[in-house]
Amino acid sequence: MRSEYQHLIDLNDYPVSWWKKVVELGEEIRNDPKRFAHECDGKVMATLFYEPSTRTQMSFQTAMIRLGGQIIGFDNPANSSVSKGETIKDTTKIVSSYADVLVIRHPIAGAAKAASLTADCPVINAGDGGHLHPTQTLTDLLTLKIEKGRLTGLTIGMCGDLINGRTVHSLCKALSMFENNKFVFISTPELRMPAYIKDIIKANGSTFEEVNTIEEAIGNLDVLYMTRIQQERFASREDYLAQKNTYVLDRKKMLLGRKDLIVMHPLPRVDEITVDVDDDPRAMYFTQAKYGVFVRMALIMTILQEKKPSETLKGKVYPAVKCDNPRCITNHEEYLPKSFRSKGGESLLECEYCDERKLV
Ligand code: ASP
Repeated sequence: MRSEYQHLIDLNDYPVSWWKKVVELGEEIRNDPKRFAHECDGKVMATLFYEPSTRTQMSFQTAMIRLGGQIIGFDNPANSSVSKGETIKDTTKIVSSYADVLVIRHPIAGAAKAASLTADCPVINAGDGGHLHPTQTLTDLLTLKIEKGRLTGLTIGMCGDLINGRTVHSLCKALSMFENNKFVFISTPELRMPAYIKDIIKANGSTFEEVNTIEEAIGNLDVLYMTRIQQERFASREDYLAQKNTYVLDRKKMLLGRKDLIVMHPLPRVDEITVDVDDDPRAMYFTQAKYGVFVRMALIMTILQEKKPSETLKGKVYPAVKCDNPRCITNHEEYLPKSFRSKGGESLLECEYCDERKLV
């Protein structure tokens, strides 16, 4: 299925050269933001935030304003017709006729892809449930490029809620495309990185190991990427409480890290990094959030200027097959074509919206 608009749903829909171009433009903007002040004069960006956000929403809005454009949207679906039962299809159809670009965040995996199927303007995925967060990854790539000087040959530790953390999913998919990157996944057995992400890492020729503690990994890392335990994605409060506070990065653990380590975090931080780490020059998370504006400026410019069509669904539609993931958009918006990629013959299918696998 093709759309005449250029969407960003998953970074891996584009070649690495495209991400590099966006990141490089982000760096140029950072060095001289005023030069870009009229790039989007007269353009309107809509932000549809069905889920809470501070940095992503505000950095997108700031980005558009700094490019000379205007913004509309909602950050609380209760104040929109969503509360009256409107589908993503209808909201998207209408808002995309008001705006030149639409930025959507939603608690359900695959929602941004669903929006892209009907939108009459480009759609940018600003986080879909526990699935992906491509613009956080662009932010992270710009941070690594500036602060480490490279996107290759890095040993990256990822710590915390690796099963539900969409930022680490997108980042693994991206960084495994660059040469000689190694991942160290630090989590409890319950919160390990999903199998499909590990398969992508292997297929891209990168390696990973799984460990249980920060202490055993930190000394070998170039980057430690901390994540919050995603309370809102747990089935019960008990399950969440069992994981809460497992990983806390503090000054004592930082002593074990190298001098050239950097600590990243997509934020918000809850209690996984103690505040006294903030003064350590290796703590990069506030700088990282600042870089988000520049890279989002670069992304908005690229998407509005390139105007390339996108392939929205590449798999095969199986009308009678249901995705097994209750938090997949196809189980919430019934009209969506049930599209799957076949993995190893017709018997193993992967949902194109949320990547959940299913044997048929
Ligand atoms: N802000 C990030 C996200 O939207 C990280 C988080 O919420 O923990 O996924």
